[in-house]
Amino acid sequence: MPEQRVTAEQRRIVIERASHCCEYRRCQAKFAIQSFSVEHIIPRSCGGETYIGNLALACQGCNGHKYTKAQGYDVVSGKQVGLYHPRRQRWIDHFEWNDDFTLIIGLTPTGRATVEALQLNREGVVNLRQVLYAMGKHPPREENT
Ligand SMILES: [Zn+2]
Repeated sequence: MPEQRVTAEQRRIVIERASHCCEYRRCQAKFAIQSFSVEHIIPRSCGGETYIGNLALACQGCNGHKYTKAQGYDVVSGKQVGLYHPRRQRWIDHFEWNDDFTLIIGLTPTGRATVEALQLNREGVVNLRQVLYAMGKHPPREENT
């Protein structure tokens, strides 16, 4: 397959569609040190194509952990399952916040596998959520779920 770059127009659409939040761990671009990436949900190495239905906005942490993965292991069943697909699935069907909005809890095999594979509850991320929550800046307002 020829390499297809994400166009500026696709990037603009993806960022606006995601309301400037990482589509995996729901962090907000305005509180991130590194700029977010427009990533291929099904990696190009797995045959994923560059079109709007296979693109998602991801923070550098999620993007780096996801890398070329499209599947992960559910910690409950031990089975390999597909990771969360922001275009085909709804975040709220697979994840929820704990009571103080510091941890993302996987509700389904896909949700649990994604929490593990992308390490959605990394220490620094949890600490940032605590600070932002105390300031009334977290969780982000949900518009596209
Ligand atoms: Zn992220």
